[in-house]
Amino acid sequence: MYFIRSSKEYDIDYLDHKWHLSAVEFYDRCTRRVNTVLCYRHGVISNSSYMRINSPCITSELFNDFNRCDCKDQFDVSIDMIQKNGSGFILYNQEEEGRGSGILDKIDSYYLMDKDNISTKKAFECLGLNTDSRNYSYVKYFAEHFNFTTIRLLTNNNDKIQSICDMGINCTRTPVVSSNPKIGQYIKSKAKELGHLFDKELLNTY
Ligand SMILES: [Zn+2]
Repeated sequence: MYFIRSSKEYDIDYLDHKWHLSAVEFYDRCTRRVNTVLCYRHGVISNSSYMRINSPCITSELFNDFNRCDCKDQFDVSIDMIQKNGSGFILYNQEEEGRGSGILDKIDSYYLMDKDNISTKKAFECLGLNTDSRNYSYVKYFAEHFNFTTIRLLTNNNDKIQSICDMGINCTRTPVVSSNPKIGQYIKSKAKELGHLFDKELLNTY
């Protein structure tokens, strides 16, 4: 059971478009964990709006490390798609760096990946971590709060779609295509090991 505290909303200008920023804090009374989700909203939200559920990736977002992952690419592409669509959300869950494992484990996985030339999934396994321990239950709150029943999710992650559907929310997928050739191996391992959905022609270009 969550205890919810939300902030006021205010306007920001981002890439010449108007966005509304608010934050929602979810306190889980059982685990005593706090999840703070930033909600960047553009346009009038309806069932045709896009949604991107974005986990933090400090290494690419802050330090421009584009050799290991496509997180920042996917974020930028999603922003562009939402602005072109006219409306949508970015939900940014501050607690879910490293697919929910945290920054320390994520950096440890980088070390193993370089040392043993292994994939992210293999590195997580070596560290005894779940491949993906993120929890999307907070999305239901936003669906109820903004009164939409269908989500057009910007993602390549099939598990993410399934998690949303399991909450009783209709969820359709729109692919997010990254054009960064440096992360071809990472994209291929996401497709092969994690079942992420990528166009076959795109995979052949890496
Ligand atoms: Zn990343």
